[in-house]
Amino acid sequence: MFAGFLEVAETCPECGLDYSFADAGDGPAVFIILIVGFLIVGLALFVEFIWHPPYWLHALIWVPLILGLSIGLLRPLKGWFVAVQYRNKAQEGRLS
Ligand SMILES: [Zn+2]
Repeated sequence: MFAGFLEVAETCPECGLDYSFADAGDGPAVFIILIVGFLIVGLALFVEFIWHPPYWLHALIWVPLILGLSIGLLRPLKGWFVAVQYRNKAQEGRLS
């Protein structure tokens, strides 16, 4: 359903569904910030309190983990949001 890394295609290649309704907006990014932020900060605090590793080791562990999780989760989460939007027929309010 993607034409680029995050660009949604115009139609579904399987069933021809028109994707023009699809607009996940900032949703996926916001949830990733909240979830990954919560996870990494919790883990970093835990590791610091238990093992007191030097700061360069913290950077070595958390920077790749933050980048990997954030970028890796964007596509699945956006796909999920578009699917839920379709299923619930979510759209902007309008005066009919
Ligand atoms: Zn389809």
